Amino acid sequence: MNKPMVLVVEDDAPVRNLITTTLKTNDYRYIAAGTGQQAIVSAVSSNPDIVLLDLGLPDMDGVEVIKNVRSWSNLPIIVISARSEDADKIRALDAGADDYLTKPFSVEELLARLRATQRRLSYMTAQMLEAASVFTNGELTVDYAGGCAYLNGEELHLTPTEYKLLKLLSQNVGKVLTHTFITQNIWGRSWQSDVASLRVFMATLRKKLEPDADSPQFIQTHIGVGYRMLRVD
Ligand code: CA
Repeated sequence: MNKPMVLVVEDDAPVRNLITTTLKTNDYRYIAAGTGQQAIVSAVSSNPDIVLLDLGLPDMDGVEVIKNVRSWSNLPIIVISARSEDADKIRALDAGADDYLTKPFSVEELLARLRATQRRLSYMTAQMLEAASVFTNGELTVDYAGGCAYLNGEELHLTPTEYKLLKLLSQNVGKVLTHTFITQNIWGRSWQSDVASLRVFMATLRKKLEPDADSPQFIQTHIGVGYRMLRVD
């Protein structure tokens, strides 16, 4: 198989060099871009497998790059943001980014995110080939056609809202879903009160789903951002 090609979009030269050196020594190919314009051109012309995108670019907002790429492609995008840019991170996820890294990040963290994204990609491809109507993740099974879910072979007794939540998370396994994205999907709107309700429903869903609610296996909380279903190996 070909080495995966990563498009690195970062205007800060030391950070860009750290990333490209890491990629080179870990069997990835890469192309680097320092502006949003270059990023959009390279995304079209170089056919990358994954995009690593800094949000603070000199010529445009990184979110504009995401919107542009999303208008023609589902190419996975991992955004890189500073800790002070939490609101930007959420905007980026809502615009269609798949995951994020917060600066400063370690080389191990970067490689782990890339591997997780590649796993998600191969899983999505396999699922599309099967046109699967049943989702499995470790001991969890969601039967989309039947509208029910099983854990360790036993049916979970879920309320309609809990089921909708579980379905949404499972259909986006590996991806961080923001509070806004989730509440829009479940209730068709996103008010402050909906985010509060979401917390309550998530707690009751977890009680039924997670063997140990204190160290959740399936659903990860991203404080102030949203939730992600993890792929359980
Ligand atoms: Ca920057």
